[in-house]
Amino acid sequence: MSYTARREQLLKALEERFGDRCKPHGKHAGPLATVLPMDAGEIESLAATVRRYSVSLSPAGAGTDPDLPEPSGETVLIGTEMMRKVRFPDGERGRVEVEPGVLWLELEDELRSSHLALTVYPTSAPRATVGGWVARDGMGVGSFAYGWLRENVLSAEIILPDGQLQSLEGDDLSLAVGALGRTGVIVRATLKLREMKGDRPFAAAFGRPEALQSTINYLLERRPPLWHLGFMNPPMTQALRVREKYLIFGAYPASDAGAADSELAQALSESHGRPLDPAEAYRIWGGRFFPVAPGRQTPAPGRVLVPASRVGIVLGHLGGGPAELALLGSVARDGSALMLAFASSGAEDPPLSLPTGDEAGLVGVARSVGGDLYHAILKQRAQL
Ligand SMILES: Cc1cc2nc3c(=O)[nH]c(=O)nc-3n(C[C@H](O)[C@H](O)[C@H](O)COP(=O)(O)OP(=O)(O)OC[C@H]3O[C@@H](n4cnc5c(N)ncnc54)[C@H](O)[C@@H]3O)c2cc1C
Repeated sequence: MSYTARREQLLKALEERFGDRCKPHGKHAGPLATVLPMDAGEIESLAATVRRYSVSLSPAGAGTDPDLPEPSGETVLIGTEMMRKVRFPDGERGRVEVEPGVLWLELEDELRSSHLALTVYPTSAPRATVGGWVARDGMGVGSFAYGWLRENVLSAEIILPDGQLQSLEGDDLSLAVGALGRTGVIVRATLKLREMKGDRPFAAAFGRPEALQSTINYLLERRPPLWHLGFMNPPMTQALRVREKYLIFGAYPASDAGAADSELAQALSESHGRPLDPAEAYRIWGGRFFPVAPGRQTPAPGRVLVPASRVGIVLGHLGGGPAELALLGSVARDGSALMLAFASSGAEDPPLSLPTGDEAGLVGVARSVGGDLYHAILKQRAQL
């Protein structure tokens, strides 16, 4: 059978089965169609169908990963936006089972009424899907206390290319977490949760990156019970309309306020940082997803992973000149820091995507302190 006839037969079979949930892409190169399954069962039968035509499935989330490889070969894209079920296994408060199309912020909001919360989520949480971040792995909000996402996925289910459903736990989870969808489609993930009696935001300002660095060093050494530790540079604070230069910010469980407050006060008195009042800390905490917001196009940042003990050097290097970058960072408990770099709009406006040509400078500075491009490190860790 000719290539065109085979392709048309497959599209016909998909349209018959999925109706308007199958969107053919036309005759240009690239994926043949996007299909929106309702559940794992539909993906099982879809896998079996496309296999008969020597076509593979390529899962897609919200597309917020700036370093997405193009799907190779003949593929059908699977959109997961109709797979959004959330289930609490009976009698267990420490875990939640989630389908891949659920958005991280939507999930966090749903958990709140049960006084539960996610352990970690990305700063792209208002847009990013559970399936997309699990397939990528990463660190973000909450990583100071709970580490990388992979440390917080208890089990997962994937549909293999032959249509078989496989349950994964322990070491086998690497077939889903960080595998970029190459091993199969993630149809369910069971995530670790934390009890939530309320988080209390904090923020502090510094005149120079060296002072911010010594506070991060102190906090990493003393390990107070903070849930999240983030930081920003002056163009980012300006875009958020905060009149401060360098900032650290984050949140700790209200139940640990005594220990967290006293360690923060000690760290700030040693580094001459200035604590901001609770109202300002709440406002800054509200900006932790900035510049990601529903209804606004998400800018694509450059992303590097550096040792948290070198954040001040990186901020200092990138802090001068007309092309100053707007930086937002998160610190993880293993001593690494993720930095997202945007092009500064030079005003009190959301920052913009980092032009590809500007990434070289960022990567050069990251490498000079023992860091690298975030996706290069993730790839290495996943041994892809
Ligand atoms: C402004 C901004 C902030 C960000 N902040 C962070 C951060 O704090 N921490 C961090 O680690 N990353 C961050 N990222 C990167 C990005 O948001 C994450 O990698 C994100 O979780 C990807 O989710 P997505 O739904 O957009 O997936 P996509 O970008 O659509 O897909 C990512 C990968 O997952 C695969 N995939 C998607 N769904 C499935 C599935 N069901 N089964 C198998 N494979 C699947 C895709 O094939 C692709 O390879 C940020 C990005 C932006 C733009």
